[in-house]
Amino acid sequence: MSRLPQPQQPLCHGPRKEEWERAHEAMKTDEVRWSSLALDGIQSDGGAALIEHRRCPACGSSISRHTTALQAVEILSSLAGIHARSLEAIARAATVGGRLGE
Ligand SMILES: [Zn+2]
Repeated sequence: MSRLPQPQQPLCHGPRKEEWERAHEAMKTDEVRWSSLALDGIQSDGGAALIEHRRCPACGSSISRHTTALQAVEILSSLAGIHARSLEAIARAATVGGRLGE
């Protein structure tokens, strides 16, 4: 019985350096995939440029690429909105439940 080819998991990669580099570069150049990776932070490059770090779901290492101030603000603003709505949900549940400790 022959097996059909299995679709490749685009976020998985092997242990060799070339496999890491190829997969990480592919993640950096695919905007949809890049934005789906966990954010590891944004930092200055020591000058005027900004670097965005995302976490590789296959190996857990940080993958980095340059970003703009506008993109960085948009990312952090989106996360701030998520955090604010989550805190509001916690506060609402605590109000209904009568306390925060449980
Ligand atoms: Zn990786």
